[in-house]
Amino acid sequence: MRIAVYPGSFDPITNGHLDVLQRAAKLFDRVIVAVAVSESKHPLFNLEERVQMVARAVQHLPNVEADSFQGLLVEYVERRSAQAVVRGLRAVSDFEFEFQLALMNRKMNERVETIFMMPKDTYTFLSSRIVKEMAQLGGDVSAFVPAHVRAALSGKFSHPPA
Ligand code: ADP
Repeated sequence: MRIAVYPGSFDPITNGHLDVLQRAAKLFDRVIVAVAVSESKHPLFNLEERVQMVARAVQHLPNVEADSFQGLLVEYVERRSAQAVVRGLRAVSDFEFEFQLALMNRKMNERVETIFMMPKDTYTFLSSRIVKEMAQLGGDVSAFVPAHVRAALSGKFSHPPA
């Protein structure tokens, strides 16, 4: 079994994350979307909300599951008997941090490989942060997130879904 972990804050999951996931799901027998607690980032959605939104967004992908984790990623990867970590690369600006993270994870556990995947070009500008800012200002985010995520954002910012 080839198992990959796709970690992140997913605050909330976007179509960019889903694009990467769909690609990863073709390469691995199983992909686990691991939602990080990310307390220091002061997420808009709590952990349970983020996991629920991921679970609903991946319902159509039979070999993808949603989970959460706390602590060291490499330890979670071992616990789940996975061999790889999937990360998305949108632009050169992502590279430096991702490179550092991948090498640090390798230092901690040589058995864990990091795989970088590029999304479809239309999603390269997309981030959870931008989606939240747009939603807060009442912008239409329907092209960037699944419908249930759009509804959840509207709930947070009191803009009822159209
Ligand atoms: P983190 O808090 O770890 O940065 P994110 O939820 O922001 O978590 O992102 C998780 C992973 O998904 C990261 O590897 C990030 O680069 C990638 N990612 C985020 N948005 C996109 C996107 N639009 N296209 C491709 N990859 C993305």
